[in-house]
Amino acid sequence: MTFCLSGKTYNALVVIIDLHTHTTASDGILSPVELLRHANENDVDMLAITDHDTLDAFTQLNGQAPGIPKLITGIELSTAWHGSGIHILGLNVDASNDILRRGIERQQYARLRRAETIARRLTKLGIENPLHAVRAIAGNGSIGRPHFAQHLVDIGFVRDLRTAFRKYLGAGKLGDVNRGWASMQDIVAWILTAGGIPVVAHPAKYRFTMTKLRCLLDDFKDAGGQGIEVICGHQSSATTLQLASLAEDLELLASCGSDFHQPGLPWSRPGGFAQLPDSLRKVWEAW
Ligand code: AMP
Ligand code: MN
Ligand code: MN
Ligand code: MN
Repeated sequence: MTFCLSGKTYNALVVIIDLHTHTTASDGILSPVELLRHANENDVDMLAITDHDTLDAFTQLNGQAPGIPKLITGIELSTAWHGSGIHILGLNVDASNDILRRGIERQQYARLRRAETIARRLTKLGIENPLHAVRAIAGNGSIGRPHFAQHLVDIGFVRDLRTAFRKYLGAGKLGDVNRGWASMQDIVAWILTAGGIPVVAHPAKYRFTMTKLRCLLDDFKDAGGQGIEVICGHQSSATTLQLASLAEDLELLASCGSDFHQPGLPWSRPGGFAQLPDSLRKVWEAW
């Protein structure tokens, strides 16, 4: 990124770009205004808010962003691929696009139905009216599994959020309900129609083999997908190398983000991750 000073253009030495963060509009702890302030305090120059299946953070901000960091309109959409839950980031979308808006409504409906299914399953374990409690925890934000996890901790059913995911909500457990989401093809099409760039979020978190991950990325590219999140928060340099080589081989744009949800965790803060390798084409160079 360049900046201007006294009429001359300079290349900034380190520009901090974070294209994956959450607010209270989904499962984040900070409101959109608080997140922007926190990102500013952490020297972030460009920030995408990417809440789960909602653009409400932008509605709440109503154009009132402070200027630094530069705010990018984003979203993290849920889908399933061969039974596994997959997240697709839509970066730099036009939030007023009708096709995207209708798609989001559909995802919100799927989220609600899914919450009912998870609640029904938890009721069978003896937990009383979990949906009521989870609605209260989520407030106006879209309901997600972290809200269920919080409730299980609140009632003393598990000792911490990690255990809640490990035993009840994580991949393969009763809360891992992936039917109902729109297809990856539809989601990619909505993002493209809204002028955004579709990016596969946190590819390493699916714990796929390299062969399976390539297969996902091939299908994603066939659908019109354009990018891969090469760096997501703290990760090993081996992971970065693997994902960077996938980005190069498959000619995908590279993205990076913290997947920030809450302050106070030293290993997770806006902009708190390594730089993308120089050789990669960056997603922000394409918008
Ligand atoms: P959902 O959008 O309802 O499918 O919930 C997914 C969210 O749950 C992720 O974005 C994370 O914020 C959170 N999450 C997923 N796995 C874990 C885990 N093992 N421990 C804590 N939070 C998790
Ligand atoms: Mn989340
Ligand atoms: Mn995600
Ligand atoms: Mn995320």
